[in-house]
Amino acid sequence: MATLRRRVAAVMGELNFGRMLRRAYRFSDREAVVDLAGDQRYSYEEHLDRVARLATVLGELAPNDQDSVAVLANAGHHYVELWRACCSGAAVINPLNTRLAPVEIVAILRDAGSPAIVVDAAHADIIDRLRPELPELRVVVLADAGPDDRHVPHDVLLSELLAVNDNASLPDEPAEDNAAVLMYTGGTTGRAKGVVLSQRAITLACYRMQPVVAVGGPQSFLSFMPMFHVGASSSWSFYLPIGGRTVILPGFDAGRINAAVLEEQITAIGAVPTMITLMLDHPDFEPKMFESLELVIYGGAAIPPSLLTRLMDVVPDVAIHQAYGMTEMSGIATALTAADHRIGGPRLQSVGRPALGVELELRHRSTGAPTPAGEVGEIWLKSDSMMTNYWNLPAETEAAVVDGWYRTGDAGRFDGDGYLYLADRVKDMIVTGGENVYSLEVERAITSHPSVIDAAVIGVPDAVWGERVHAVVQYRPPPPHATAPTAAELDGHTRALIAAYKVPKNWTIRSEPLPVSAAGKVLKRRLREELAAGTDEAR
Ligand code: ADP
Repeated sequence: MATLRRRVAAVMGELNFGRMLRRAYRFSDREAVVDLAGDQRYSYEEHLDRVARLATVLGELAPNDQDSVAVLANAGHHYVELWRACCSGAAVINPLNTRLAPVEIVAILRDAGSPAIVVDAAHADIIDRLRPELPELRVVVLADAGPDDRHVPHDVLLSELLAVNDNASLPDEPAEDNAAVLMYTGGTTGRAKGVVLSQRAITLACYRMQPVVAVGGPQSFLSFMPMFHVGASSSWSFYLPIGGRTVILPGFDAGRINAAVLEEQITAIGAVPTMITLMLDHPDFEPKMFESLELVIYGGAAIPPSLLTRLMDVVPDVAIHQAYGMTEMSGIATALTAADHRIGGPRLQSVGRPALGVELELRHRSTGAPTPAGEVGEIWLKSDSMMTNYWNLPAETEAAVVDGWYRTGDAGRFDGDGYLYLADRVKDMIVTGGENVYSLEVERAITSHPSVIDAAVIGVPDAVWGERVHAVVQYRPPPPHATAPTAAELDGHTRALIAAYKVPKNWTIRSEPLPVSAAGKVLKRRLREELAAGTDEAR
């Protein structure tokens, strides 16, 4: 018994990112990170050395290992190094959305209490606008101390800090309960909230994906999502335990992504559906560019059925995996696996089954009671990859976490085999004439029309119906001899697929893309504002 107790004590605490990083030393001569912007390539040995030196520097910038260090930067090797240095146990990383206005950044920095911010040259001009508000903030510029970098306003260049740190080693392993990430999210539905993710949460979320990513030979992941989003950071972490390569593009550029897949012989990508459309639609795209691909992970937003069919046709031999999840779960909560995709059929409309170790229940929105089989309910999730709390928001935390369950605010229903079908975000659900209309269902019907690229369905106030279903549709630019689909045509198409009360009463049909967040999700809030202001061109 005594022996057993000692053994248990010895393994406890292993779910920390520091341990995962230490284990990566065994891949030392493999390529770890490739930054295509400057064609910089680092082996695991070099990468881990940079991470360790950075972790030492962070000890000076954030004296308490639970202080958060903010980052405002485009994707790049510096970002990955900084992320890993913080999560090794040196500090908490607070990755900022690069699209935020200076006033929003000030609010977040104040809320987070971050003593330091790391910025790249592209965002350094914002700093002067933060200084008067936050005189104590230390500003570090992510730059290589080249002649151009020295002109960027800064307190200190990162390269100068790193130069004085030879023979650095990773800090002691952090406790599982320590905070690792403070990520402000919720941009698509309202005010940003700081999600606190523990060491345990992010490490578990990464291990959870090993059965998906650890396939066959050496893996190369191409990262092109913004690095402040959970989808990006969690994805390149998946490749750490297997010594995979992370190849980085600084931002989204469909043509460059397609070319990079070919040139770097990429085996895996992760993307939101809008990005996949742009990649496949790019004039230079040819399916043979994707011959090295073994895995495509998509998620973050609902995929139009026509896009999924197209993707599966273009890369028939590639494992296609859908993830449904959110920042509050450190990423992934359910998975529609490659095997599910191969079986196909109606399940392609589903977000799959709970990922390894995730419990999922459907509950009545107001009573919290389990919903009867086959009915729509709010999705409640439970797992150790769940957030600890919303930072500084006890009331919001209490509303979102009930008895250890996270209430997602998404609605869904199960089929007889336990596959989950998303109905909507609860906040996006439309109530028209007393009937609930789930916008995702209507969007799916509209986007199955061949001329439609994307659609967003929203409720607009209506004196008779309470709310009226309104669709904003982006159509595929027609060849010269064809015309854009008309409202009557889309009405007829949709009416054949869903009940009449769900069919939009008004249509905005446009060629320009729908407004999306930096993470590629449609901003319905923006569409509602446009409609209310009468700036859309409703037909
Ligand atoms: P936000 O979009 O609120 O800023 P997140 O980036 O954490 O925050 O997004 C999480 C939300 O994205 C989920 O609650 C869900 O509504 C949506 N989502 C995530 N994955 C999928 C998916 N595979 N299909 C449809 N919607 C998804």
